[in-house]
Amino acid sequence: MEDWQKAFAESITTLREVSDHYPIDLESLQPVVQRYPLRVTRHYFNLIQEPNDPIWRQCIPDIEEIKDTQISIDPLNEKGFMPVPFLIHRYPDRVVLLVSQTCPTFCRFCTRKNNMKGGFFLPFPPLEEAIEYIKKRREIRDVILSGGDPLLLSDNELDGVLGRLRKILHVEIIRINTRMPVTLPERITLSLCKMLKAYHPLFINTHFNHPLEISPQSSEACAHLAEAGIPLGNQTVLLKGVNDDPSVMKQLMQKLLTLRVRPYYIHQLDRVRGTKHFRTPVKRGLEIISGLRGHTSGMAVPHYVIDLPGGKGKVPLVPDDIKKEGKVYFLRNYLGEVVEYQDEE
Ligand SMILES: *Cc1c(COP(=O)(O)O)cnc(C)c1O
Repeated sequence: MEDWQKAFAESITTLREVSDHYPIDLESLQPVVQRYPLRVTRHYFNLIQEPNDPIWRQCIPDIEEIKDTQISIDPLNEKGFMPVPFLIHRYPDRVVLLVSQTCPTFCRFCTRKNNMKGGFFLPFPPLEEAIEYIKKRREIRDVILSGGDPLLLSDNELDGVLGRLRKILHVEIIRINTRMPVTLPERITLSLCKMLKAYHPLFINTHFNHPLEISPQSSEACAHLAEAGIPLGNQTVLLKGVNDDPSVMKQLMQKLLTLRVRPYYIHQLDRVRGTKHFRTPVKRGLEIISGLRGHTSGMAVPHYVIDLPGGKGKVPLVPDDIKKEGKVYFLRNYLGEVVEYQDEE
C-alpha cells in the first residue's frame, strides 16, 4: 500500500470519530449519515478551526441535508446523456468519463451525492464500452476524467486509462478533474507526476473553495503538478456560509494564482437534493464577479456559470454592464462609471 492509500484508508467515516474532537449531536445526525455517508480525510479534517467554519460546513453532515426531499437527484439529467455506462456526452466535441465512483472526502454539497458509493476501494469500473464509444466518434477531441475522484485510481490503473485514450488519435486533450490537492495532497506523488507527464497535453482542474484550504501540503501538491508541465485550473462552487462573499473569493483567487492555479469557473450550485442549505441567489454570484473584475488581475477572474437544468449546458453570467443607443454603447467600468463607446459604422 502506498502512503496516500494508507491516508485514504485512515479517513474519518463515523460520527463517533468526529465527536472525539468536537461536540456534535450524534442522535440527530445518525439518519443523515445513513442517507449520505460521511468521509473526511485526516488532512481535510485538520483544516477545521472551529465548528461550522467553511471547512466544517463542506464535510461535516448537517441535519438540513435530509430535510431537503422535494427536488431532483439528477437535475442535470446526466443519466439521459449517458450513451454507454460511465460516459456523459452532452456537448459536441467533449465527453466526461467517470473513472472512479468514490472520493477521499465526501463534500456535503456534491452534485453526485445521491449516488456516491460509501465503500473503500471500489472495483475499477468497466470502461471498455466507453472507450470504444470515444474511438468510434472522431468529433470527440477532449476527454474529461471525473468520478468520484479520478486520482483514487492507482498509478497503474490511471496509466492504463490514459494510455488507451492517447492511442485514439482524434483525442487532442485530456483533462483530469480532481480535488486531491485539497483533500488528500499526499496523492500527488512524484511518481504520479512522472507518469502523467507522458500524456501531454494534459490539464488538471482542481477544486478549492476557500482560502483556508490552501495549506503548505496543497501548495506543494500543486507545485509538483506544475513542475510536470500540467496547466492547472480551479473550479469553485459558490456555497452559502463558505465563500458567498466577494472579499473571501478575491483572496481565494489571488492565492490560487500564487500556486500557479488559474481560476476557471465559479459554479452556481446545482439544484440537487440534499444541498438546499448551501444555495445562494444568482445576484450574489454576480456581485462576486463585480468585486473581482477590474479590482484584481484579470487572470484571477473566473467565469461564473450556471449549469442549466435538464442538461441544457453551462451558461456564463456577467454583470449587466452594457446599454446601447443607436451606434453608442454605454459601458459601466469597475468603478461604476458609465462611459460612452462609439461603435463602428
Ligand atoms: C461542464 C461539462 C463539460 C466541460 O465543459 P467546459 O465548459 O468545456 O469545461 C463537458 N461535459 C459535461 C457533461 C459537462 O457538464
